[in-house]
Amino acid sequence: MKMSDQKPDGVQPDFPRGTPVGGVPALVVSGFLGAGKTTLVKHLIRDAQEQGLRLAVISNEFGALGIDQALLQEAGGAGYVELEGGCVCCQLSNELRDTLQALWSKIRPDRVVVETSGVALPFETLMTFWREPITDWVGESLAVVVVNAEQVAQRRDLDGTFEQQVSSADLLIFNKVDLVPEASLRELEEVLHEMAPDAPILHSVHGEVDGRVLFPSLSSKSISANEVRRRSELMPHTHEAFESQELSLPDDLTPDQLLNRLQAHQALRMKGIVHTSEGLKLVQGVGSRIELTTPPSGIPEDLIGRIIIICRK
Ligand SMILES: [Zn+2]
Repeated sequence: MKMSDQKPDGVQPDFPRGTPVGGVPALVVSGFLGAGKTTLVKHLIRDAQEQGLRLAVISNEFGALGIDQALLQEAGGAGYVELEGGCVCCQLSNELRDTLQALWSKIRPDRVVVETSGVALPFETLMTFWREPITDWVGESLAVVVVNAEQVAQRRDLDGTFEQQVSSADLLIFNKVDLVPEASLRELEEVLHEMAPDAPILHSVHGEVDGRVLFPSLSSKSISANEVRRRSELMPHTHEAFESQELSLPDDLTPDQLLNRLQAHQALRMKGIVHTSEGLKLVQGVGSRIELTTPPSGIPEDLIGRIIIICRK
């Protein structure tokens, strides 16, 4: 199940003033208890702080160690809310919507993260982002599933909830790869690939994933248009190295031509706004899934005609 099939008519709303171009990016972080979700969220809080961005975090990871929650609470500050008394993918779906909206009013976040419990289904949780009034300000939303590499190596609990979570992921974070023999990684990835053929797999140790892969930004300045060239090397302290490039594409390709060209790059993520034969399109991609939607009005001129892609080095 992919969100491109689900989001009603694919038309982006006009986002409220002050919203990032294309809306506020939002992640659902799911995965089995012990996969490393909370560690990843802590890393994302730090990453946002370093960049001066406001992050809203809603955690539904009941049953996790209290100390983790206390640390998150402290790190997340006003943007951190814990939801208890049920699961956000089902019983607490309305509470999740109301909490998201309250956080939007209160802190106007630049990024949103919802951490689910180990039993929640990421896709069901993701659908909250498409409900009114959340859909008025949330832009791209992704289901990220954190997987404990050691659990896969031990072939432990790989059916049922695990498989349901993995198969609905947009992006898989293969965490704790330092705990399994490097020679077995490819074989272990194959297990995930069979469950989620379209989801890119990122390796990580201690949940350290470059925030720019999870939240690609359109408005990174200092890149000149109409040129494909290597830009920064995205590897502060991650296990994998990424590079970002800016693509220049001819105007007025048909949407199909555009998709073919974009797919050829096999990027992990992409984001941009281009002229096509059917008008302006907002391009958002995760692995092989690339969506073209109508961008919000009032896009700054200097963002048009640029697509940033992030690939493995
Ligand atoms: Zn649920």
